[in-house]
This record gives sequence, structure tokens and C-alpha cells, in this order.
Amino acid sequence: MQESEPLKSTNFIHEIIEKDLQSGKYQGRVHTRFPPEPNGYLHIGHAKSICLNFGTAAKYHGLCNLRFDDTNPIKEEQEYIDSIIQDVRWIGFDWDDRLYFASDYFDQMFDYAVQLIKSGKAYVCDLTPEEIRDYRGTLTKPGKESPYRNRSVEENLDLFQRMRAGEFPDGSRVLRAKIDMASPNLNLRDPVMYRILHAAHPRTGDKWRVYPMYDWAHGLEDSIERITHSICTLEFEDHRPLYDWYLDQLGIYHPQQIEFARLNLSYTVMSKRKFLELVKDGYVRGWDDPRMPTIAGLRRRGYAPESIRTFCDRIGVAKGDSTVDIALLEYCLREDLNKRSPRFMAVLRPLKVIIENYPEDKTEMLEAVNNPENPEAGTRIIPFSRIIYIERDDFMENPPKQFYRLAPGREVRLRYAYFITCREVVKDANGQIVELRCLYDPATRGGDAPDGRKVKATLHWVSAFHALNSEARLYEKLFLKENPNEVEEGTDWKSNINPNSLEILSSCKMEPALKGKNPGFICQFERLGYFCVDPDTTSEKMVFNRTVTLRDTWAKLQKQEK
Ligand code: ATP
Ligand code: MG
Repeated sequence: MQESEPLKSTNFIHEIIEKDLQSGKYQGRVHTRFPPEPNGYLHIGHAKSICLNFGTAAKYHGLCNLRFDDTNPIKEEQEYIDSIIQDVRWIGFDWDDRLYFASDYFDQMFDYAVQLIKSGKAYVCDLTPEEIRDYRGTLTKPGKESPYRNRSVEENLDLFQRMRAGEFPDGSRVLRAKIDMASPNLNLRDPVMYRILHAAHPRTGDKWRVYPMYDWAHGLEDSIERITHSICTLEFEDHRPLYDWYLDQLGIYHPQQIEFARLNLSYTVMSKRKFLELVKDGYVRGWDDPRMPTIAGLRRRGYAPESIRTFCDRIGVAKGDSTVDIALLEYCLREDLNKRSPRFMAVLRPLKVIIENYPEDKTEMLEAVNNPENPEAGTRIIPFSRIIYIERDDFMENPPKQFYRLAPGREVRLRYAYFITCREVVKDANGQIVELRCLYDPATRGGDAPDGRKVKATLHWVSAFHALNSEARLYEKLFLKENPNEVEEGTDWKSNINPNSLEILSSCKMEPALKGKNPGFICQFERLGYFCVDPDTTSEKMVFNRTVTLRDTWAKLQKQEK
């Protein structure tokens, strides 16, 4: 765990910006952008970039654009565009009227390419993709020049226009920059700028038969939007010289690129490509499956935007790669939920308890505290009656020494209600426990004995007659290994998927006050964790997701370290 403390004051990007503001480099402007490619849903890694770009602009009274880097029509879809817009807004940021698409600049980019051809800095190459790869060389071996490298400007212009017109099949030709096949930086070995692709684009339709490569397009997009600080992840450090080369050759506005370390989280992968695989192959129920570290998944799981922003703030921004413990994300979540979640009682694995000395048709309304962390949240009433459910785990017929909950002959407290003592265990023909017969002490109403006698356990419960039947979905980590990309020979990251990451409990009993709560409603079920209402809820059956358990592994870790 390297990145734990907020780096607000020492964020190296902010230091660079402050220097630029002092020197007047961009006339006092700060203009950033968040540039997702719409080829999947956003994930928690993107949240780091969103908070950094929008947060930085806000800090320096600048602007931040939302820009779709939609240069690859094969992988991009409107569904992804819509989800990204929703997610960035939900995290809490706004771009006013500055929603842009790289595809809006396709004409401009094409003109820039023509400009490079005219100045002898780009050429049409007929090598096959395999040949281009072979000719490229390696880190230790210089590349070989393409035999098409010295075509005349006229021929290049003619071929490029005909590529655009759709005269040639996919993969038959490309436009390449003419830089240096011997450069130690492989990105500068005559990179491809345009490829032929007979594919319809979600926004430009059938207009284009050539599409720009990411490395050609990206720097131009930033330049066209007059971005000042083009913040991106470390893997683009080696691409910066290429972006610089393009901008310098064209002689156009030049933003400053600054690289930072991407977010990696333990027990998760962090790539849209891999998430797409999980969705397509049915390992999860969709992009918004509550086990997914996508923004949509976290939202459905019960995360509030505040906890995600807090998390992004705490991990800080650094220049070196590291992996953040997923327990820190859950810590931020619990901290947020603890303050604002009302408490309820729910029984996930019900065991029937009949209180034999309680009148058959009596119901009492008992008072319960809504949130001990927040006195203003007040109290509510809970019905109590002769038949109740308790958690199966809260009873043991032959308890070991450390088990203090209910057992034959033992007395425990029912939260907000009475002390009960187990008198008899009733079993079915298979020896399965089906119900308990108990006696209650009427003098202990509210949960304390007037004679001062103590019990060692307090159980949650739900009145059987009043209970709301519902489903609970419990989640475990999606991956078994801290680093899911670490695999045995012959297998891949998917071999590390946890086959038991979802447990569905379909006969849960819940406090009646939960009836009618809408999807997204979040609360704490006493002793069980935080739960939220899932959109799968119908008028017949409510469905709850366990957002997180109450067990705080992060705080424990911190204590151990001290
Ligand atoms: P993925 O590999 O998951 O597909 P990407 O980098 O290809 O991610 P983009 O849509 O290109 O996804 O990303 C948009 C922005 O989000 C980029 O500026 C990128 O640097 C940033 N980003 C992506 N992943 C992370 C991450 N794990 N941590 C921080 N920033 C990220
Ligand atoms: Mg990308």
C-alpha cells in the first residue's frame, strides 16, 4: 500500500500547473479534458482520471471537456457513449456545453494529413500489416525502410484521396508518417496514421473509408480544443515524442502532456477489454453487475458518488505504478454509509422461533433507533409477535465454548424486544432443525432485565407474520488472487475468477418498514452489513444487494501496521 494519504498539496501535476500559471505559459488558462474511448463502460480507474481532470480544472477555475475519442468504429457503440455521459455526471462533474467527439474533427485531421503529405512527411505504404510489423524491427534491432517510403508527393496525394474514396479494400494500404526507422523509440518508426476501414461509424455513418489511428488523432484533438494540460496515464510517456513531432511538423497549438500512474486495484482487473469478456462470456450478469468495478456496477452495488470521490482523493496522484488495496475503497464506502444509512433488521437465513408463553394474537410495537451515529434520524416502531425468525447461524444445538448466541437452555436478548430462553429444538424426519420453542421474560421489554441479569448475545429478528419476503444477493470478490493477472502456465486471468462470487438467498425475512423502498435505497441491516434495493425489485418481490459487510479490513490493517 503505497498510495494511502491524500496528496492534495503535493500533487505534482498541480505543481506544474501552478508554475505555468506563474510564468503565464497559457495566459493563465487551465483547460483539461477527460477523453474516453466509447468501447465499454467506465471503471473505477477512469474515476481517478475524471476526478483528476475535472477536479484540477475546478481547483484552478479552469475548464474541463468531456471528449469521446471515437476513432475506432468497430468497437464503439452508442450504448457506451450514453453510459459514459451518465457515469461522469453521476460521479459529480459537469462540462456545460463542452461535449466533444473526435469524429467531429475527422475533416480537420484529414486536412492535417494532407498537409504532412505535401511537406513530404507522410506517405502511402502498401506493405501488409505483417510486413509492417516485420519491418519495424525491435528494441535491439533497427527497422527497415518501406519500399514505398519515397513515393512522390503527387502519388501519395492521389492514393490517399482514393483511399478515402473507398477504392481499396481494408488492410491494403495505410498512410504513414515519415520519421525515422532507426529511432530507439519504436513509436517513431514511421507510425501508421490512417487505415482503410469500410465500416459505418456511430456518428459519421458511411462518410469515411479511412479512420485515423489513436496516436495520430489524440494529440490533434487536444490541440484543436486548445487543451493546456493533457493529463494521461504513464503508458503514453513513450508516445509523447510522436505527439510532439506531429504538432511541430504541422506548426499548430501545442498542449503539454503530463503522465501519471494509472489506478490498479487488488483483486480486480482494470480494463474495458477484460470487462467486455466477462460480460460477453456470462461470468457476470452485465456491465452493471454489482461485482464489477465499473461505475455502473459500483452504483448498483450501493456506492454513492461521495465515497468514490473520497477514494480518488485519498489515493492521490503519483508518477510511479502501484496497486491500491481494495480494502481502502471499501473503507471509504463504509465511512460514507455509516453516517447516512438508517438501520433495519433483516434475517437472511431464517430459523423459526415460537415464543410459547407469548399470546397468540398479540402484536406489540417496539421502538428502535434509526441510526446511532445520527440522533436526528430518530426512531421507528417494529412489530413483535409470538412467531419470529432469527438467523440460522445464531443458534447451535451443541455450541463450542466461544459461541455465546442461542443454544438449548440458554438466554439471549432480542434487539429492542425481550430476553428469550430456548426450551426445545424441533427437527424434521431428516434431523434438520425446523423450529425452536422458546420462552420470553415479559419483564425484559426494551431489552434489559430489571434484576440486572446479563446475557452474552443480542440477536436481530423479524416478526414472522409481519415479515417482508425478499431476496438478498451476497457478493464476494470477483477474483481469487490479489493480482488476477498472475497466472499459471497455459491459463489466463480468467482462471482466477472466483466461482463463488455471488450467493443468492431467496427466502429472506425483512422488517415491514422496508416495503416500497425504491431501487438505490440503502440501509444497514443490523449485524449483517449495508444493503441496497436492486432494480430487479418487482411489486411481488424485493431484491437487496449486500453493498459491503460491516467487517472493516482496512482499519484492521492500519492498526496492525502501527
Ligand atoms: P482500458 O484499458 O480500461 O480500456 P483505456 O485507457 O483504454 O482503459 P480510455 O477510454 O482510453 O480507456 O480512457 C480514458 C481516460 O481514462 C484516459 O485518459 C486514460 O488515461 C484514463 N484511464 C483509463 N484507465 C485508467 C486507470 N486505471 N487509472 C487512471 N486513469 C485511467
Ligand atoms: Mg484506450
